[in-house]
Amino acid sequence: MEDQASALQALADQIAVCPQCDLSKTRGRAVPGEGSPNADIVFIGEGPGFYEDQQGRPFVGAAGKFLDELLASIGLQRRDVYICNVIKCRAPGNRDPLPAEIAACKPWLDQQLEVIQPKVIVTLGRFSMSRYFPGQSISRIHGQPRRIDGMTYVPMYHPAAALHQASLRRTILDDFGKLPAILEETLAKKEEEQPSEPDAVQMQLL
Ligand code: URA
Repeated sequence: MEDQASALQALADQIAVCPQCDLSKTRGRAVPGEGSPNADIVFIGEGPGFYEDQQGRPFVGAAGKFLDELLASIGLQRRDVYICNVIKCRAPGNRDPLPAEIAACKPWLDQQLEVIQPKVIVTLGRFSMSRYFPGQSISRIHGQPRRIDGMTYVPMYHPAAALHQASLRRTILDDFGKLPAILEETLAKKEEEQPSEPDAVQMQLL
């Protein structure tokens, strides 16, 4: 855990001065992400907004308040999970990130996930969804877990969507409500796939 924390900090230090795309010229502060360095669940949003760019922390604005509520609804706090974004620097005027910006930022997210080794990745919104579910529509697949190579991915609406469309609030709360069971099932499957040490030894002895 300490190793993971320092590896994540080393990445955050590099992200803070990353020059890989033009967003580095307009950003206030880069927003690497925050939370538990060995979180079972990682949430991936889109990119920093106005307040995140000022504070260097993810989801601190109105969408972040709702995200806190969603986490609390399943008994979690920010420190129990890891929260980050597809792009680490604010796009001017909160415009959509460009494909070149997402590509330039991809190695950072890849490395963060490599360090954290989560069991479940929750995508928040279409830009993180299309990383794992290209060409799919959120209205069709939200809340439905998919297991790929031992990892469970769960696409969800972005919390900000509920701020624009009140009816989505219930949908997002319901999707979040499925997360504890999804995590439990993922952990159980992992245990089946990789028997714990004593079982493995016992099997060799049989
Ligand atoms: N929206 C996001 O996708 N990420 C943030 O960090 C804040 C708002």
